[in-house]
Amino acid sequence: MADVAVVGAGLIGLGVAYELAKRDVAVTVFDRDEPARAASWAGAGMLAPFSEELPDAAMLALCRESLAMYPVFVEDVRERSGVDARLRRDGTLHIALDDARLADLAVHAEMYRRNGGEVTMLGRGDVLAREPLLAKDLAGAVFVANEAQVDNRRLGRALLAACESLGVRFKRVADIALDCDARRVRGLRTQHGFTPVGTVVNAAGAWAGELDGVPDDVRIPVRPVAGEMLAIALPRKAMRALVWLGHRYLVPRDDGRLLVGATAVERDFDARVTTAGLHDLLDAALAVAPALAGFAVVETWAGLRPGTPDGRPYLGATALEGYVVAAGHFRNGILLAPITARLIADLVVDGRDAALGPFAATRTAAGPRSMVANEIA
Ligand SMILES: Cc1cc2nc3c(=O)[nH]c(=O)nc-3n(C[C@H](O)[C@H](O)[C@H](O)COP(=O)(O)OP(=O)(O)OC[C@H]3O[C@@H](n4cnc5c(N)ncnc54)[C@H](O)[C@@H]3O)c2cc1C
Repeated sequence: MADVAVVGAGLIGLGVAYELAKRDVAVTVFDRDEPARAASWAGAGMLAPFSEELPDAAMLALCRESLAMYPVFVEDVRERSGVDARLRRDGTLHIALDDARLADLAVHAEMYRRNGGEVTMLGRGDVLAREPLLAKDLAGAVFVANEAQVDNRRLGRALLAACESLGVRFKRVADIALDCDARRVRGLRTQHGFTPVGTVVNAAGAWAGELDGVPDDVRIPVRPVAGEMLAIALPRKAMRALVWLGHRYLVPRDDGRLLVGATAVERDFDARVTTAGLHDLLDAALAVAPALAGFAVVETWAGLRPGTPDGRPYLGATALEGYVVAAGHFRNGILLAPITARLIADLVVDGRDAALGPFAATRTAAGPRSMVANEIA
């Protein structure tokens, strides 16, 4: 019998299962779909805690700590799975196409620096020397050197294989419901019957607030925020850094694809790719890099980010004994996978929850914010 059941096999659920299994906990992961698809497959894989302009200092600290864990995390998972998730530390370029935007970016650069970013202002010549495909008449850029990217689809495959090598069991279920009494979790109910289990971790991403059987007073208010993306075929190494133009970005992968992302639309659980979404993405891509006009679009897709009212995830125990949540990572769930795995395993295995305060499931939506990380937006 499992000691712990995890609902949701995205990067969050897989990371938690992996960390628990490394600590000799028997884990079963339940998903109604293929593991490591959903948002964890759809994301861009940027590990960019400074550029993201996070909502507060607690979130910034969590994201920075997770970024610091990434090299060891990826290497450890690679050793167990044989799959390299291709962590790349090529930094982020924020492009200004005109002088007014460059002045605005300089203000943002100060904030990135105060938050721990290694920031440089670059003139047109320096930007084009680094990235020759960008617009020849751009005004300049802010470069954040200590940001990275990971191939999140490869990371999903790697984590899945690493979990399997550690004995984690996976169950594909059509329907799943938490079973509990007034005080504590008793197990999970699926179409196959009842599975008794003392601890259930809800890692169901954008659907985490919808899990059947969860009493209303411990439900977390997670909502879906759709994001559309596309990929352009581009020769490998034709572009290196993450390139941002306002809220749109280019992510060059090692596999010959340049990802262009992402829209942010609230329209319930609708993950279609729309013509308006593609238009918006291509507009931004061609503005920042007109040379892309001749290349082929090779893929389009969309996913649902798990949004929360205050922009922080819900991590930790709830008032229902045995019911633990790890969901609501919004735009940063790939970045936050390693630290989430560690914190939830610390809680489940050792009862440690010291670091979880600002992310507690019991906080109110309008709860107190710590020192403000983003003083501009
Ligand atoms: C377009 C886009 C771009 C993004 N870019 C980045 C980025 O650059 N960097 C970054 O850090 N983050 C990024 N994100 C955010 C990141 O992808 C998410 O925060 C993260 O993947 C959430 O992981 P998860 O495991 O919580 O959810 P998911 O990956 O969505 O997994 C949830 C799983 O739960 C399962 N599930 C749900 N309900 C049930 C149920 N009732 N029973 C059984 N199974 C269930 C689903 O089938 C799914 O497999 C992006 C997201 C999108 C959409």
